[in-house]
Amino acid sequence: MPVPKKMPSAKLDAVASTATSAEKLADKLARLGLRSDMDLVLHLPLRYEDETRIVSIAEAGFMFGRPAQVEGIVTTCTVQFRPRRQLVVTIADDSGPLVLRFLNFYGSQTRQFTEGNRIRARAEVRHGFLGAEMVHPQYKVVLEGAPLPSALTPVYPAGEGVSQLVLRRAIADAMKRVDWTDTLSPAVRQRLQLEPFEAAVRLLHNPPQDIDEAALIERSHPAWVRMKFDELLAQQLSLKRAQLARRAKGAAALSKFGRLSKAFLATLPFKLTTAQKRVLAEVRADLVQTFPMQRLLQGDVGSGKTVVAALAATQAIDSGFQAVLMAPTEILADQHFRKIAGWMAPLGVQVVWLTGSLKKKDKTEAQAAIESGQAQLVIGTHALIQEAVQFARLGLVIVDEQHRFGVGQRLALRNKGLTDAVATDGGVTVPHQLMMSATPIPRTLAMTYYADLEVSVIDQLPPGRTPVVTRVIDQVRREEVINRVHAAAQEGRQVYWVCPLIEESEALQLQTATETHATLVEALPDLQVGLVHGRLKTAEKQEVMDAFTRGEIQVLVATTVIEVGVDVPNASLMVIEHAERFGLSQLHQLRGRVGRGSTASICLLLYQSPLGMVAKQRLATMRETTDGFEIARRDLEIRGPGEFLGARQSGQALLRFADLETDQWLVEAARTLAQTLLHEDPHVVEAHLARWLGAREEFLKV
Ligand code: ADP
Ligand code: MG
Repeated sequence: MPVPKKMPSAKLDAVASTATSAEKLADKLARLGLRSDMDLVLHLPLRYEDETRIVSIAEAGFMFGRPAQVEGIVTTCTVQFRPRRQLVVTIADDSGPLVLRFLNFYGSQTRQFTEGNRIRARAEVRHGFLGAEMVHPQYKVVLEGAPLPSALTPVYPAGEGVSQLVLRRAIADAMKRVDWTDTLSPAVRQRLQLEPFEAAVRLLHNPPQDIDEAALIERSHPAWVRMKFDELLAQQLSLKRAQLARRAKGAAALSKFGRLSKAFLATLPFKLTTAQKRVLAEVRADLVQTFPMQRLLQGDVGSGKTVVAALAATQAIDSGFQAVLMAPTEILADQHFRKIAGWMAPLGVQVVWLTGSLKKKDKTEAQAAIESGQAQLVIGTHALIQEAVQFARLGLVIVDEQHRFGVGQRLALRNKGLTDAVATDGGVTVPHQLMMSATPIPRTLAMTYYADLEVSVIDQLPPGRTPVVTRVIDQVRREEVINRVHAAAQEGRQVYWVCPLIEESEALQLQTATETHATLVEALPDLQVGLVHGRLKTAEKQEVMDAFTRGEIQVLVATTVIEVGVDVPNASLMVIEHAERFGLSQLHQLRGRVGRGSTASICLLLYQSPLGMVAKQRLATMRETTDGFEIARRDLEIRGPGEFLGARQSGQALLRFADLETDQWLVEAARTLAQTLLHEDPHVVEAHLARWLGAREEFLKV
């Protein structure tokens, strides 16, 4: 770490305005989420540095990959200009010389490296052109025999403008002020073999020299275990409390499975699967309650979630309420609208459609219908939350592909229904919520990560589906693939050709799509090749999708806009280019666009070699299984839970130390204790939640 710059004038300013600089520090700390003393105390080190010992320079050369601390006397100090300006210092101890190299440095630094000065430096040693060297070591000038710290040095998660030193001081100050009362009684600690809170925290901030370092680093040390347990306990308490709070809220009981629901079931062109029936029964049982449902409907791609949602909607409508369905893309919302309106309009239901791209006049009309209550079922995109629209009597909120929405967005939609118009007893009521997702979440994750949520699973596909066969093909065989597309189209099949994902640039992605389209038009002159991407106007998108649905287009070149939900049963061949760039769940979603009809479907994953390990694993998984739950399980293995769920999921924000995979037993223990505490010790519950969650708990109430 470079020595702090000396800036006398800035220092004077700082003295003149200590108050504002303290405020600024508070602001900076707040940006790290550190608002209270307890927040600071629980800001635990990411890792530790061992500055407690000094090794000889010779020994340091053999500590491959690990930082070493050495002490030596400066023998030379020069500023070199080739290949670029840099400060090169040589120090030596009895075992030999060592070069310290600085690419960024201040002029004043050269003075610290006066020949004969004693330098304590810490970094990894590399073997460079001039022999052993450290690049940008942390260092200080010391006198012979200067004391070494007796504890490992903590390294904290830091942020812009907050140095380790500042954090260390702020934390040490906070430790003097906080209330250390242990929220776990001695009896509980003894039973679960947990360390006392204060001792554990102090140890983690200042680990003694003789500590089991491996346990500290792997976070298996008893002090860490206590932190993880406390954190999980807070999470469990919070989840349970959110559930109790939800149950205490009012909701309109949607108790009529009446004329419309029955007529709808009777006109469906198919019979519900056993799984659909079971899940529908679960949803119905929730809807008749006088507290709001919060249910996640999981089911693999193509398992038939939409019809279950539609039946939930008819129950709301039968009971005299409005229902709303929000989807993450226009294409999907449009498709839902057509499908559901196609089912329901003949039965006399007013279905209204609201997206951002509606013309002003149509939008105003839609809004009026929603506000008057005339619109019984509303289908749309994010526009539903963005536009100034209030529902007259919103009874049910359905969110499709819920993982595509943030917590805040789901909350906003729900709040559209928070009108007292719905309340019969004068209190505010909350609409029931049904969330749908094809991205299956393993049960333990669902329970611990999501805010208070019931889960229903459709674990069966409608009959007559043949599993999609997946082949992984090297890009160099593109010609063959094009021939295959041609042959398939001549047999009357329809084909999706998915363009590579280019995360860095939407423009580039667009360009690739356009180029691919041009190539395919040329290579397949006797076929109709369409193109759909995110930049098209809504009407244009719809036109293309319609033509594809009607079979007028045989090959549809598409970006990931078709990723979720799109349903064209006659499409039975899918080509995905640069499949190695997609994540597993995305590939699974894409592949789910085929295999929806009765013909056997094929998915060709083109890749560009060489493949990395992770990409190889992903493609192999895709080839080996079509089971979404299995895929999710492997995805979890490959990526770990944090990334798996995406940063926006709610409960995740609550876990910093515990790891749901390795700390499973702690999760169980925390869950059991949470139950007991809620019944027996409300004060402890409050204290524990305040300590661990503070303001963050709000996040869980969604
Ligand atoms: P997802 O669960 O992926 O949202 P959809 O709801 O889009 O799946 O359903 C996929 C297709 O299966 C649709 O064409 C739908 O009409 C059809 N479908 C749904 N349920 C059944 C069933 N029980 N029998 C036959 N087809 C069904
Ligand atoms: Mg769907």
